[in-house]
Amino acid sequence: MTNRTFTMIKPDATEKGSTGGILEMINAAGFRIVAMKMTHLSKEKAGQFYEVHKERPFYGELVEFMSRGPITAAILEKENAVEEFRNLIGATNPANAAEGTIRKKYASSIGENAVHGSDSDENAAIEGAFFFSKLEQF
Ligand code: GDP
Repeated sequence: MTNRTFTMIKPDATEKGSTGGILEMINAAGFRIVAMKMTHLSKEKAGQFYEVHKERPFYGELVEFMSRGPITAAILEKENAVEEFRNLIGATNPANAAEGTIRKKYASSIGENAVHGSDSDENAAIEGAFFFSKLEQF
């Protein structure tokens, strides 16, 4: 499991036409896409995905945002994928994201921050399975 992580290109990035640019950065960083789909989360599904944040003050805003428009979900493979991908996306708040990171280039705010990246191997497996059956993972 340690060589796979899960990502979503969020609705803000989809709206701005940034999907191709973000996928290019992911490829250039040496990740292999082993599953991918474009979909539109219902409020219910977005709420389920972010259930761990239910008690946070921004939960309602997050669910509204994530169900606002289409997203691209993908499973990525690379050695040490979870940590490497967190490095590639940068800090949650783009104001604090390092040069060369996806969020530095494409995110507009702490909420609308262009991409999701799993924070642990365990969550990567849970989140990947939320979107993809075994038959859809290559
Ligand atoms: P991540 O692991 O870097 O994505 O950050 P977190 O797990 O802390 O938060 C999950 C997601 O919730 C973030 O990527 C943001 O989209 C959103 N979020 C986090 N903090 C805030 C906030 O203060 N306000 C709003 N509106 N959204 C937030």
